[in-house]
Amino acid sequence: MLRDVYIQENGKIKLVSMDCSSIDLHCHSKYSNSFIPHKVTRFLGVRECYTPIKKISSILEKRGREYQTISDHDEVEGALELRRYRLKKGHEDVIVGGEYTVAIEPRCFDQTIHVNCVGLDYSNGATSPLPDHKVRTLNRKLLRQRECGEKEFIKFCKGEGVPYVKSHIALQCTPKKPLSGEQLYRLMEGEDKIELNGDSQLENLIELDIAQRNKLAICCGTDAHTKERLGNQFTVAWKLNSEGEPTPVETPAELVDAFINNNIGMGSTHSLPENITNPSLADIVFYQFNGTTKNLQRDTMRGSVDYVTYEWGWRKAIFLGIFVLPVALFNVPLVLPDFTAWGLGFGGGALVLGLSGTALFYKGIPATERQGDRKRAKKLYGGINEYIAHLETESQREGIIELKDQIEKLNGQIEDHHIETQEIYRHHANKELPILNPKLKGFTKLARWFVNLYCGENKEDLVDTSAFTQPIEQEPTEE
Ligand SMILES: [Zn+2]
Ligand SMILES: [Zn+2]
Repeated sequence: MLRDVYIQENGKIKLVSMDCSSIDLHCHSKYSNSFIPHKVTRFLGVRECYTPIKKISSILEKRGREYQTISDHDEVEGALELRRYRLKKGHEDVIVGGEYTVAIEPRCFDQTIHVNCVGLDYSNGATSPLPDHKVRTLNRKLLRQRECGEKEFIKFCKGEGVPYVKSHIALQCTPKKPLSGEQLYRLMEGEDKIELNGDSQLENLIELDIAQRNKLAICCGTDAHTKERLGNQFTVAWKLNSEGEPTPVETPAELVDAFINNNIGMGSTHSLPENITNPSLADIVFYQFNGTTKNLQRDTMRGSVDYVTYEWGWRKAIFLGIFVLPVALFNVPLVLPDFTAWGLGFGGGALVLGLSGTALFYKGIPATERQGDRKRAKKLYGGINEYIAHLETESQREGIIELKDQIEKLNGQIEDHHIETQEIYRHHANKELPILNPKLKGFTKLARWFVNLYCGENKEDLVDTSAFTQPIEQEPTEE
């Protein structure tokens, strides 16, 4: 299918029109459950995601994704069930994924990153999908490797031929001990691709910046934990035909192959407003790859509805019963007007109670979360730039020292009549080290501008937002 997609080429993000296949490379199912930290909430049946496999499958299909995957946290059962379900319906269009929480340093989960292992069932160059039990074995090995530190984990993936990409790397997974700029920069050294997410904002800009700086292929998934945003952002993949033209891949194995060979880019179902004809990176992220607070609030709301509507167990029944039964049976005005509980009875009453409780929170939570994320992202980006500035100064310092050495050697050799040349070299030798501005005024401005866009406050700082606001390259559209 012909789509407008973004790719990285020669260190620049470009908009191109391309015949390619698509897949939401990062989404979660009801099997994803390693991120509910509290025992009590876990006991009450609170999950990080409730979406059933069939629902995911039908939504992804409806939203035009030709291939499907699930990348649950440290879990492959959801993806395996999706594969079985699609096969039963006659479709061979699933790859099995897994999002692994990997300790950056061995056995220390204070700081972690998420690694999206893509197509576990096609690892090690398999051309036909590995059976369930082999995928499960590989999953168990990967789970053990998570503790050995990021370096070992990546080494293991490479050794076992497990295709992977570091997910939402600029999204600080461990807010208590966020990554430093240097850490993030080092984490991306030696990588050949980077993943953006549909629920990130400033983080996506940072990732596009890294993609340009390090010439990384870009891919994307929604990271949807409810059915709301599923399939809205996606990775595109292609293969080259005999004429060297990109064409859609035809099998899951070809899809994984395209991923490995970086024949990938990213697309979104959200389009740019018509008045933006020369989009910048900031425009692209803002309009097409952006978990706006509003969207995230809808996500939160959907999560609560899903909690009440999916998978009733005795714990959930008792919990909701304690609050709802008195209302329903004895007409006790707890939170709701009496008639609501009478009218709706137990199940409905529980639903309304759950929703009204959520409604109190849902407006606040994502907004404050976003603000925290933005702050951390800003700091991280500042850190990266400082680190790069430091690297540059170091290499320049080395260069000048080298030059001085050369001059000293030359001084011994040069004869008197070459006095002019000597002068030139001396001039170089005495040159001051360049002063780099560590305060990063440009970025502070950009960050403020970005935040203002979200909060709808003053837009005075729209000028001078450096690389992020310059128009990206676009392929001329063929007539
Ligand atoms: Zn994640
Ligand atoms: Zn995720």
